[in-house]
Amino acid sequence: MHLVIVGLGLIGASFAAAVKKAGFGGSITAVVRSQSSGVTAVERALVDHYSLDIRDAVKTADMVMLAVPMLAMRGQLTDMAPTLPTHTIVTDVGSVKSYFAEQALAALTHPERIVPAHPIAGRERSGMDAADETLFEKRRVIVTPLPETAAANLDAVSALWAMTGAVLETLDVEHHDRVLAHTSHVPHVLAFALVDALVKQPEAEEIFRYTAGGFRDFSRLAASDPVMWSDICRTNPEAILKSLDQFDLHLQHIRSAIEIGDGDTLERTFERARVARSQYNDVQS
Ligand code: NAD
Repeated sequence: MHLVIVGLGLIGASFAAAVKKAGFGGSITAVVRSQSSGVTAVERALVDHYSLDIRDAVKTADMVMLAVPMLAMRGQLTDMAPTLPTHTIVTDVGSVKSYFAEQALAALTHPERIVPAHPIAGRERSGMDAADETLFEKRRVIVTPLPETAAANLDAVSALWAMTGAVLETLDVEHHDRVLAHTSHVPHVLAFALVDALVKQPEAEEIFRYTAGGFRDFSRLAASDPVMWSDICRTNPEAILKSLDQFDLHLQHIRSAIEIGDGDTLERTFERARVARSQYNDVQS
């Protein structure tokens, strides 16, 4: 099996490291943007080869995995299309599945080879230096096969993810994007918004000097990569806006309760959230 990983950042490099650690018998080529990162990746034995030329790299690929920011996917798909063998499986790790599916269907022939996937694992650091061979262990990976996806291709992608120690689940593309808007995309937008709003306060320096506990937990997401999150907002706008509108209504409700001193409503709301949060903790553990 010749696996080509396009984009050797946090997710691409962690995936390469994880399958190698698990004894992957094939060879891995990384498509990178600079010679120096290619040389480093081979020196660290993350991959066997590197290439600066996607058209050349995919010529002998059995599977191509796109691990670039969402808005870079389209260019990579159109660039590789002319030299991609017709049997080659094309998968990705992007956070928005409908956008990848649309771009892949538009750029590629043989839709049975398209296998979108999304690991629900990550961290605020990005780039190859943040790679971690244990990143996906016991974490969920959602595969979102298209109606056209061939079962054998879905199995091949799932088998590689299973090697990383991940737990696989299947959702359809739109369902994935709706759920992830609520659980990941909107929380990141809120964290960025909160920290940005505080930065603009006249006493910002003081605010950040006294950060602890709650603020630190909540604002952690705002340390994430701005390009990656801007791309996610631009490729999943409908679901994110719907979720933001629902949240906005709820926030207004809480705001009114604070304004009129309605302790019952506040307590009921916070208690509901507390119970839900501890049940969710039980599900996770
Ligand atoms: P990263 O920034 O660590 O790596 C991205 C890689 O893509 C880098 O190697 C970079 O050189 C390359 N790249 C960037 N722009 C490019 C362009 N225009 N053309 C070609 N290559 C380009 O990012 P990451 O965290 O590994 O994220 C990669 C993908 O995985 C994204 O689509 C993201 O939505 C998804 N994802 C990220 C996380 C996370 O928590 N970081 C989790 C799950 C999925």
